[in-house]
This record gives sequence, C-alpha cells and structure tokens, in this order.
Amino acid sequence: MEQQEHSWDAIRAQFPILQQTVHGKPLVYLDSAATAQKPQCVIDAESQFYSTINAGVHRGAHELAARSTVAFEQARERIAKFIGASWQEGEEEVVVTAGATAGLNLLATAFGYASLGRGGSAATRFALHEGDEIVVSEAEHHSVLLPMQELAARTGATLRWIPVTQDGRIDVTRAHEVITARTRIVAVTYVTNVTGSITDVAPIVQAAHQVGAVVILDACQAAPHLALDMHALDVDFAAFSAHKMYGPTGVGFLYGKRELLEALPAATFGGSMVELAWLDKPAQYMAPPARFEAGTQPIAQVVASGVAAEFLDHIGFAAIEQHEHALTERLLQLDSIPGVRILGPTENTQRIGTVAFEVEGVHPHDVGQFVDAQGVAIRVGHHCAQPIHRHFGVFASNRASVGVYNTLSDIDALVDAVSGVRAFFK
Ligand code: PLP
Repeated sequence: MEQQEHSWDAIRAQFPILQQTVHGKPLVYLDSAATAQKPQCVIDAESQFYSTINAGVHRGAHELAARSTVAFEQARERIAKFIGASWQEGEEEVVVTAGATAGLNLLATAFGYASLGRGGSAATRFALHEGDEIVVSEAEHHSVLLPMQELAARTGATLRWIPVTQDGRIDVTRAHEVITARTRIVAVTYVTNVTGSITDVAPIVQAAHQVGAVVILDACQAAPHLALDMHALDVDFAAFSAHKMYGPTGVGFLYGKRELLEALPAATFGGSMVELAWLDKPAQYMAPPARFEAGTQPIAQVVASGVAAEFLDHIGFAAIEQHEHALTERLLQLDSIPGVRILGPTENTQRIGTVAFEVEGVHPHDVGQFVDAQGVAIRVGHHCAQPIHRHFGVFASNRASVGVYNTLSDIDALVDAVSGVRAFFK
C-alpha cells in the first residue's frame, strides 16, 4: 500500500505545472476532462524534437527528414498499439488529425463526398440519401452531434438519438428501437464528458452491424482512463485527442478499420496526399493514412503523443483504473453536501472520475470562481453537451474530473470548497 502511495506521488511529481500555487493556495487541478496536464517526458519529447530532429516527413532526402519520418511513423505505431489497431506498413489504421473534433468532421465530410458519388463504387457504402438515418445519443458532445447533424442536413438523412436513462447513462436497452434498417451511421461516445458514465458499446455495435450501419466511437474521454482495444470493440471508426491523454494540444487520431479507410473518399485536399496530380484530369490520391493527411502534419506533437501513450502504458490501465476509482469514490461525496446534486450516476460503477454537479441557487460560474479562490480548478458551463444538460433541466453545471496526478486530498479540497458555497452566496 505504501509502495502504491509512493508511486502515485512520484507520478504527480512528473507534472511541473502542478508544483505551483494559485491565489496563494496549492493548485488542485480537477479539470482534466477539458485538458490533461503534461508530464515532463511529453514536454521534453516536443522540445527535443525541435532541438534535434525537426524536418518535414516522408519526402526529404536529407538525414533530418529521415529521422523525422522515423519518429513520426514510430509514434503512429505506438498510438496504434495503444488502441489495439493495426500499424504494419500498408495496414495502418491510425490517421493523424488535429484532434477529435477534426477527426469527426473528417468522417462527416468524407461521408458527404461519398453521398455525392465521390470515391468510386467502393465509397457507396458510405453514401447517405433521403430516408436514411444517422443515430447519435442524447449524451453526445457537440463535436459528435453537430458534424452528424450537418451531414444529415447535407444528404437529406434524418438524425435520431438513443435517449439517456434518468441518471444520464446512454440507454443501450433502447438501441434496438432507434437503430433500424434505415440506419447508416451510429455515432456514440464511449465515456461521456458530463456524467462520466461508460457506455456499454457492444449491444450498440451489434445492433448497428446487424443492419449494415457504420459505428463511429468518440473515444476522447476513454483514452486517458480505460485500456482501448479497437479490434475487440469492433467499432468501425474512433476519434480521440492527444491533449486529454497527457499529450500535446493540436493533435489527435482517427482510427478506422483498414478496409473502410481504403474505401473512404478523401476529405481534405493538398500536399502529401496525392500520387499523381494533373491540370486536366482528376488526381489520384494515396492509400490511407496519407490520403487523409493533407498538408504538413503536427509532427512534433505526434511524436510527443507517442510518448504520452507510453507514459500511460507504463503506469498501466489496471493501476490507473484502481487509483481513479478511489478518487471517484471520494468525489461522489459531493452528493451528500446539502444543496448539491450530482448530474449523473451517483454509484461508482461503469464510470470514470468525471462528475458534473449543481449547487442549488448558485450559478455555476459563481461556484467555479468561489472554488478557484481556494486554488481548485473545475469546469463550468455546458461542457459542449447541451442536450444532456436539458435532460437534467439545467443549462449549465460544474464539473470536476480527475487524472493520474490527483490525490485524495485534492478531492477533499474540492469537497471542502463546495461545502462553503451556499453559505457564501446566500
Ligand atoms: N468528445 C468528447 C466527449 C469531449 O469531451 C471532447 C472535448 O471536450 C471532444 C469530443 C472534442 O475534443 P477536442 O476539442 O479535443 O477536439
């Protein structure tokens, strides 16, 4: 036990940003669902890349270009292994994006092109027409909801959604009702960014595949907390951002089953994604993943993302889940503070340590500022997920979310601070 405590202290010590005080109080960072802090190894990886390797990838004849290409492709391999995807040359299933939002928009754009007949006969499997349906859930982040809604508007398809249970979990028992023979795409989150609940993905995948629909998984909030295995989950596509898993900002990854990536039309166009380009006839695009990586990629950030994945693998997800389960247990004590209501499940099962709550009669921004004055950083607002807030009858909430660096005393500091909110604002 002592050994375990000691190792979590050592992990926390790797995050230089956490060594500071805010408003004269030690910083308690409980906003990791928005973005996670970075360990020294990730910070060093990016800076090392710029000081020793920096060069464009893939086409250079010089030494630095060769090193840069190796580092970039090795990072892709690390990320692929991290999520249980294929990485061998010619079999790659990981596409570099600017983040989860970019990955989800890439898919919506590519499906839109397929609906216009682009991408040849292979892409017809992605084409949408009037009468087709796209299914999301009531718990989606706007980064899933809006690209899918726009895709529906562009193609004449209809958007439907799987409702949430009273306590805000995606109600998988309703999946078979909502997913019908007309469904072409099902896009759902693995872990919600508001209630922290983990979706039972298997029945959704099964229902979708039974009717030939493609499954898109938003793995953003899962990647830092759960071991991912895309092949075992059997989803068709998945998007996530590096910055939520202790990696850099401005970069993310899109997983796609290899045969689907091969059939998917290009979505953005430019350098590095074309085999042959002419003035007077259509271009021939490269095979994936290059087909989806137009323009100069965030190379240093990709390399540092690989280091972030190693950092997480090194701790191990069994240990992370155990550590965060204990933090969540204590975080759920928020519910016993008079006037505080947790928006989401209050039991500590099938969930991560992301907890949204409201304090009766006090605006979330006031709560956020009040706890910030005690050095405690939480999120306030609708967390880019308005429909699920509507389900709870509120427009906004407070949200505390944990990472590997948090301690039980961090949670105590939050609980103490929140306990004083109502008395202060009455
Ligand atoms: N999906 C979920 C569940 C999220 O929490 C977020 C970020 O908050 C996103 C998607 C979008 O991620 P990004 O803003 O990094 O593109």
